[in-house]
Amino acid sequence: MGSKRYYSQGVIDEVRDKADIVQVISEYLTLRPAGQNFKALCPFHKEKTPSFMVNPSRQMFRCFGCGEGGNVFTFLMKIDGLTFGQAVRALATRYGVPLRTEDGEKIDETARLRQALLDLNRKVAAHFQRNLIDGEVGSLALEYLKERGVGDDAIRTFGIGYAKESWDDVCGKFGKKGSGLELLETVGLASKGKQGSSYDRFRGRIIFPIVDVAGNVRGFGGRVLSSAHLEGEKDRGAKYLNSPESLVYHKGRTLYGLHQARDAVRSEGFVVLVEGYMDVIALFEAGIRNVVATCGTALTPQQCGLIKRYTERPVVFFDADRAGTSASLRSFDVFSREGLRPRVFKAPGEDDPDDYVKRVGGEKLLEALRQAPAFPEFLIKETLREFDVGTVDGKLSALKEVLPSLSRLTLVESNHYVRMLADELSVDQEIVFAELHKLSGRSKVGEEIQVLKERQFIAEERDLVRMIVTHNEALRTASESVEPSLITSDFLRELVECCFSACRSGKEVTLSGLLDKFEGDSERSFIAQLAFCESVIDGSGFSRLVDKLRRNALARRANEMHKEYLSSLKGEGDMVGESELEREFVEMKRSAVAD
Ligand SMILES: [Zn+2]
Repeated sequence: MGSKRYYSQGVIDEVRDKADIVQVISEYLTLRPAGQNFKALCPFHKEKTPSFMVNPSRQMFRCFGCGEGGNVFTFLMKIDGLTFGQAVRALATRYGVPLRTEDGEKIDETARLRQALLDLNRKVAAHFQRNLIDGEVGSLALEYLKERGVGDDAIRTFGIGYAKESWDDVCGKFGKKGSGLELLETVGLASKGKQGSSYDRFRGRIIFPIVDVAGNVRGFGGRVLSSAHLEGEKDRGAKYLNSPESLVYHKGRTLYGLHQARDAVRSEGFVVLVEGYMDVIALFEAGIRNVVATCGTALTPQQCGLIKRYTERPVVFFDADRAGTSASLRSFDVFSREGLRPRVFKAPGEDDPDDYVKRVGGEKLLEALRQAPAFPEFLIKETLREFDVGTVDGKLSALKEVLPSLSRLTLVESNHYVRMLADELSVDQEIVFAELHKLSGRSKVGEEIQVLKERQFIAEERDLVRMIVTHNEALRTASESVEPSLITSDFLRELVECCFSACRSGKEVTLSGLLDKFEGDSERSFIAQLAFCESVIDGSGFSRLVDKLRRNALARRANEMHKEYLSSLKGEGDMVGESELEREFVEMKRSAVAD
């Protein structure tokens, strides 16, 4: 439950009541009226005609293309990569709802601190940029950036700045008042010296602000100017220096450049994943805008989650060296666990992305990225190049290298690549299949995500749920006359029980409220979809439905009894018991089929 239980239910309800989903969503998307709803192009999948609907009266959204849906909290969680607690907090702050935990304790303090840190980061980022652009101090850095082909547009778009060669530029400006120094240390802009005095942590570096999807400055990356500029100067430490993890910065949950790349990712239909910020900027300069970078970490599941909100098609473009190749390999594992199928592009020769794009130009590279092979194909080719597949040993080593990755694929996919691999190695397909089989038996392959499809439910059960969540009258009647035990689906029964108990205690039942009681994606998506169902109901329709549910239940019971009866015939049963069982069975069967 975690964060869900952190805030009191009262706070969650109040925030949900006050927040307006149309207002919130329209800050991200262009909503157009469509009857009583609004529609837009879905931010969660690529589409040309809008299938993303917002229902103002129910305060729900749903995409009919990809199935994403939910309430205002769900939307913020998905679009900004927030946890439930963060979404509640963001809206509470905005709509002026005082935050309280379940124990009634006020937790405004943490929220206030977080906001103060983000404000500070934003101001310092602006200061760094002024350093770069204005006057003397940044001229060397600016010249260096220009030499590397980084122009004004990129500087503005990515907020690139310059940290002066000074121990107290930032501390002096932002650390004077109140707890300023402490805040600077908290986000890693200042360090404490041996004498207890604070000094600037970023000095003489080009600064790349690390911005989250919503545009908040979370942290900084600093790069020394090239060694040519450092000649005769003392050693300045590592080439790259990044902000440490803090209350506002978690590097595993951030993708550099995603804020700037969002629109291009949607319109191109894929995202290019590179390793460093200079790669992002180099590709940006060449006109390729759908590029993001991990910030000095191996790809994390959270970063995959961020990518997944915008596209299902990542193209990995890492350095051409061995480190780059093994990083691609690791990223494939992370991607495929998250259900994504990455493609891989590798520049020929030793070029890293930055060099390569300068050599061939943006247009040619973008086309190559579009055509990038699926990961298994890439892996097979790379591996064949590495081993001497003319020998038995070489063939075996190549198999060992490739098969673990193939075992993560679906059957259809792995079939395809097994054929390819067998051909390339000139071995029998059966042998490759057999080896793959051994492997798949051992690893947990094919953990399929269960999706609740409408048709998965018994029609009457589904219809009952539709009626009671959309009509108060039906809910009241049902809560008095329908036993939840008539429903076979655990999920629908739980849903009905939630509605009934709310109804009995006189609370209003809203889909948006129900949504927060369920945690599974597929369950939440089903609830979201209910918000857009046409509710067709009349009194007789309702009673027919309940009748049918009862008859279904009777028929099930009759079936069970029939089975019991048959199995009792096989054994030596007591005759009286049997005939009673038979009578009951006949009786039930009659009432079940009666109309
Ligand atoms: Zn969609």
